[in-house]
Amino acid sequence: MSLTVRDSLAQAEQVLTQSGCTEPRANAEFLLAHLLHTSRTWLTAFGQEPLPADKQQAYERLVARHAAGEPLAYITGFQPFCNLEISVTPDVLIPRPETEELVEWAAHFFNPAAPLKILDLCTGSGCIALALAAQLPHACVTAADISLRALQVARHNAERLKLQEKITFIESNLWENVQGDFDMIVSNPPYIPSGDLPGLMREVQAEPALALDGGPDGLRLTRQIIRRAGRFTHAGSILGLELCQGQPAAVAALLNGLGWRATVKKDIFGIERFVLAQKI
Ligand code: GLN
Repeated sequence: MSLTVRDSLAQAEQVLTQSGCTEPRANAEFLLAHLLHTSRTWLTAFGQEPLPADKQQAYERLVARHAAGEPLAYITGFQPFCNLEISVTPDVLIPRPETEELVEWAAHFFNPAAPLKILDLCTGSGCIALALAAQLPHACVTAADISLRALQVARHNAERLKLQEKITFIESNLWENVQGDFDMIVSNPPYIPSGDLPGLMREVQAEPALALDGGPDGLRLTRQIIRRAGRFTHAGSILGLELCQGQPAAVAALLNGLGWRATVKKDIFGIERFVLAQKI
């Protein structure tokens, strides 16, 4: 006899709770809604509906993957970001809400009607480049990453979202293959200190270390970015970086010594998270 939607959800919630998942109910609903191409509201409203056996089996497989530590976004293949559906694979970091804030700061800095040249370093899924290209109609965006696999995901996103005309993708180890003079440079570089990686949440550990590992103090790539940013910018250009707690003040101080006027911004949780700098 087939299970009802309600019973199936209860079973999945139990499996996820036992696995140590922090939001077992919400994630159980999210996965079933994804499988059935419906909404979580529908699941609640039609909890007494029977779940066909093939769907139940497919659902159990999805729940088992999440229980084993696979992030929801890798299971569904998508993560919402700045009103866009970003396609993700285990080759890219899953876009985070704090990075949406970086996009907001960056997008509102210049007149949206201006023909801007923007560079996104360490683009990963392309989320920042895509969101800026979508929000700034006259922007011409260059998106760089060291990982060819990540660039494949980013290009695929640009085509899906019909933004490919506005973004040039380049394979580049930071500045290696970058050319040009940009009005704005944005980056969410890997910034986690290497020693902290083993202690990260299990789901974060499913993400590529290449996108997380910032070297001994977390700032290895950030230092390389800020040291050479001056060569690719002009007076008035903006540099926007996402970092982690404890890093922005030090990075702002370095930038102030390199011909930039830097300010630290907090994220919505009140944590110092971003550095926004303007070239003098
Ligand atoms: N924000 C990510 C995390 O907390 C880290 C992203 C990065 O290193 N750029 O896991």
